Amino acid sequence: MHGASSILESPIEYLKGVGPQRGDLLRKELNIHSFGDLLEHFPYRHIDKTRVFPISAIAPGMDMVQVKGVLGEPEEAAIKGRKRLTAVLRDGTAELELTWFQGISWVKKALVPGRMYLVYGRVSWFKNVPQMTHPEIEPVEAENSSGKNFLEPVYSTTEKLKAKFITGRAIGKLTAALLPQVSQRDVPEFLPASILQQAQLMGRYDAYRHIHFPPDTATYQAALRRLKFEELFALQVKLSQVKIRRHTASRGFVFDKVGDYFNTFYKHYLPFELTGAQKRVIKEIRTDCGRGHQMNRLLQGDVGSGKTMVALLSMLLAADNGFQSCLMAPTEILAQQHYAGISALLKDMPLNVALLTGSVKAAERRKVLAAAAAGELHILIGTHALIEDKVQFANLGFVVIDEQHRFGVEQRSKLWQKNEVPPHVLVMTATPIPRTLSMSLFGDLDCSIMDELPPGRQPITTVHRYDSARHNVLEFVRSEIDKGRQAYVIFPLIEESAKMDFENLMRGYEMVKTFLPEPRYWMSMVHGRMSPDEKETNMQRFVKGDTQAMVSTTVIEVGVNVPNATVMVIESAEKFGLSQLHQLRGRVGRGSEKSFCILLTGPNLTQDARQRLKIMCDTNDGFKIAEKDLELRGPGDIEGTRQSGLLNFKLASIVNDKPLMELAQTLAANLLESDVELNLPEHQALKHYLLSRKGKTYWSKIS
Ligand code: ADP
Ligand code: MG
Repeated sequence: MHGASSILESPIEYLKGVGPQRGDLLRKELNIHSFGDLLEHFPYRHIDKTRVFPISAIAPGMDMVQVKGVLGEPEEAAIKGRKRLTAVLRDGTAELELTWFQGISWVKKALVPGRMYLVYGRVSWFKNVPQMTHPEIEPVEAENSSGKNFLEPVYSTTEKLKAKFITGRAIGKLTAALLPQVSQRDVPEFLPASILQQAQLMGRYDAYRHIHFPPDTATYQAALRRLKFEELFALQVKLSQVKIRRHTASRGFVFDKVGDYFNTFYKHYLPFELTGAQKRVIKEIRTDCGRGHQMNRLLQGDVGSGKTMVALLSMLLAADNGFQSCLMAPTEILAQQHYAGISALLKDMPLNVALLTGSVKAAERRKVLAAAAAGELHILIGTHALIEDKVQFANLGFVVIDEQHRFGVEQRSKLWQKNEVPPHVLVMTATPIPRTLSMSLFGDLDCSIMDELPPGRQPITTVHRYDSARHNVLEFVRSEIDKGRQAYVIFPLIEESAKMDFENLMRGYEMVKTFLPEPRYWMSMVHGRMSPDEKETNMQRFVKGDTQAMVSTTVIEVGVNVPNATVMVIESAEKFGLSQLHQLRGRVGRGSEKSFCILLTGPNLTQDARQRLKIMCDTNDGFKIAEKDLELRGPGDIEGTRQSGLLNFKLASIVNDKPLMELAQTLAANLLESDVELNLPEHQALKHYLLSRKGKTYWSKIS
């Protein structure tokens, strides 16, 4: 925000009232290094001091109140050895008792009985009489003064700072001292006039002043809106630039033919008719890959919508055009499953498919790496190990990233930096993502949506049961197994203690076993302490139907596909987030049989937990659930957002500012349409602003 040699660049200790010691603390505790940093330390709320109440109007339930009255004679007393000072404030309507336990001698010296004071503080009640302890108090000059006519800002601070008297209010005083020294030149406008006008925004300088010290709520809201907008707009400009450059300037491999691999597979080995949504997305991918620019596409589909087949057909298209593909999964189990599934589908086709994960043995690994480098391998499936630099492809043309929220814009680019011409990239999400989140996390990508499940699926019936009904629930599980189906029983991960999780799971396993005794029934178990090999063995026994029940922690949550499984029991379901529950539930209902999801909980549930369970029981629609999840939890807990740094917004919120974000996106796209590199004179300020923020924010790292 700083122009050349702006006062805002001055080190914080030079601000009047700070000095070296407090300056040091402000740096360490709040990352406030300069005047500018202080200006950007925004208040998190304001205290309304625009109203002065008659004392008689103070009623129980009021919190902070401002009154005005004449101070009576202070009286000192000691109660149980504790000194205190009281004085009565009268305003002609009633009396209010003011009390001090500390700084008594100072208060006695400073306050003048008989004088008019403005008093602000928290009201408490003693024997039906309102009181205030340690109020803010200051003399009022004119009899008819109506109090302090502004909203007082409150700032976040830390215990260490408070210990040195840098309270939330003290920071307000520093800011108040700073503001008069800040000129329009220090906070230059960078938004083009057309944007200011279209979005109806307050100017930047005014916004910075009013966000701290607004004369009224409406002005504050306008200042806040302006500053939120600039955060969102900057992000959207960056993301749109990436997208537009890719569409226009980037080079990309041209997949211009559909050949034998694709056609043979389609004709002879495709195990089912594609859904309309699958066909549409494959067409989108074909078009993208034929244009000579890099494709970077996000495929959002609900659980079970058949994303894997879209990935496979795309990789066949790549092979038809002489290119290699790779498919990356977030876990070892998933990578193995993709490998098994895809190998089986391609077993009669002349294609080389290999697996590369952390647990692939050295000799095999060498072979795979050599085949990839020699271009003999058509499809490589693996975990993140694939982005290690060791893996070299002869001609990587297509990359699928499965079930990833975790990858930010930056990490994704790592994948194709290896190549002179970047491969086409298809990112597939595990569950749908709320729109605002995908606009920011994946705003650089083009988006495909699969909102159709394969035909013949019956909706999963979801119910909530208390622990006390566990006996019935497990008997129901057994009756389903007796019909030839399989079941999952999931236990939560309580992150604080891996040991407790483990013991909990073992107890659960024994408990389920009493309902499913050997040798009539067999059970699998998978948990985080197992080696990848052990996990895989247990998983495979379940996949093959050798075991009827899978007892597991959430390690199986994503992607696992066993169509014969029709019951999902989730223990301590209140401990899971909505997306996670939906993802877990998606493990059943994958075949043609009727499926069930049973959410078991203890008797005491929070309001939030109740809501989550209700939503789960009410809908199977992952797109609806994603929106609800974001609303209920806020973005902080949504997987991937923390790592991506998306939450580095100072003011904007992807939960509450959806319309503003959409506006920012539209206006950013319009602005860039004619001037993607921001070369026009009216876009210079914006260009410089974006450059000046380099490295300081999430979006500034996008390039
Ligand atoms: P997800 O989108 O959750 O990754 P998968 O790709 O694992 O879903 O597919 C879920 C199940 O649906 C798999 O058993 C898959 O074989 C099957 N499937 C996918 N597409 C179709 C289709 N068009 N018709 C019938 N079954 C399908
Ligand atoms: Mg999948």
